[in-house]
Amino acid sequence: MAIVAAGKMRRKGLAVMAVQTIDNTTEATPDTGPAFGPAVALSCRECGERVPLGPVFACQECFGPLEVAYDLPTGDPEALRKQIESGPANIWRYAPLLPVPADVVDKPNLNPGWTKLVKADNLARELGVTGGLYVKDDSGNPTHSFKDRVVAIALEAARTFGLKTLSCSSTGNLAGAVGAAAARAGFRSCVFIPHDLEAGKVVMAAVYGGELVGIEGNYDDVNRFCSELIGDPIGEDWGFVNVNLRPYYGEGSKTLAYEICEQLGWRLPDQIVIPIASGSQLTKIDKGLQELIKLGLVEEKPYKIYGAQAEGCSPVSAAFKAGHDVVRPVKPDTIAKSLAIGNPADGPYVLDIARRTGGAVEDVTDEQCVAAIKLLARTEGIFAETAGGVTVGVLKKLIETGQLDPALETVVLNTGDGLKTLDAVAPTTGPTAVIRPTLAAFREAGLA
Ligand SMILES: *Cc1c(COP(=O)(O)O)cnc(C)c1O
Ligand SMILES: [Zn+2]
Repeated sequence: MAIVAAGKMRRKGLAVMAVQTIDNTTEATPDTGPAFGPAVALSCRECGERVPLGPVFACQECFGPLEVAYDLPTGDPEALRKQIESGPANIWRYAPLLPVPADVVDKPNLNPGWTKLVKADNLARELGVTGGLYVKDDSGNPTHSFKDRVVAIALEAARTFGLKTLSCSSTGNLAGAVGAAAARAGFRSCVFIPHDLEAGKVVMAAVYGGELVGIEGNYDDVNRFCSELIGDPIGEDWGFVNVNLRPYYGEGSKTLAYEICEQLGWRLPDQIVIPIASGSQLTKIDKGLQELIKLGLVEEKPYKIYGAQAEGCSPVSAAFKAGHDVVRPVKPDTIAKSLAIGNPADGPYVLDIARRTGGAVEDVTDEQCVAAIKLLARTEGIFAETAGGVTVGVLKKLIETGQLDPALETVVLNTGDGLKTLDAVAPTTGPTAVIRPTLAAFREAGLA
């Protein structure tokens, strides 16, 4: 409990700021209801306190995280299903379930989502999965990671709140997604990353022309710095997608749940394996599944949620195994840098969900991660970044340790593109042979 208390104390200054923001804006701003579609308020995940939709993220009563509350469409699920199916082939087909205006499709953004759900029969055979195995391949997004989904929703909120600079603290992929979305939507961007990220991530974050700042420290240092910036007048009209816009940002991950179920023919899978950095994606996928059940868009049945971490940054996995409900922060040391958050904000909620659904949280070593990247590439022709390697590696380990039932239908997420983390596999991946251009040399190499 001491750790949770310390975390809340650290958030205290920001929460106080959040209260002031609400007080200042309630009279001044007009009703922004239609701008947020079916969203009606922000509500505290801990105590249920409701506040108006605004660029705030912490509860004024208990400092718990705020999330978007909806007045979701009621009535005929069949009509809603048809409406969704006739929508665009991107996340905006789910606009009736997101905190965005109905005309969101007409605004400049990157239109992410509707990525492939690949039936992975070869990988299934190799892992002994008999109940059906799918890879939800989110490397197919505009900046090659799932982060385009969350940024798209945060961007709409930033537009509505009249914020001028789009920003974030990032482990790499988010910085690229923010840079690209800001470029397209005409925002200034200024993003913050740990100084020692992979070259692919740094270039991806810089190429869109926004400002990119490397911080001498790890992600948790970057995050702390950004929290200070928000509290300062410098950050007044800044939208930090994963800090003051975090409630909206989080909703983007629900679209993964929606797409998986729709692509399966409007039904729930039995099991989903999801990578954990801050834990936001995992908790919001669960939220999305719950909404589909409530709306009658899928038939209710039990499903299990599994979380995946790298051993070198596995605070949630460690807490799960120890039976704890608090997450003890760690100092990350892993090649899976996109998952290297040592103090994951949504860690306790991940534990709740894994336990409630009968899932688990596991971790794999960097070696197992690299082996899993190669396994997925060799079996399905999908080149995952290290986060995907961690997730597929954890799937393998869960089966081997009897924690995941291979006879049940399983979806595993690949959240990013291997081209951004070439260094992870380059030392052990290369040409089979280098030869002179003659048939004799080819024969000599034993390849004929
Ligand atoms: C950010 C990220 C995740 C998950 O992040 P959460 O903070 O847990 O939502 C997973 N995979 C990749 C590649 C990412 O960049
Ligand atoms: Zn609260």
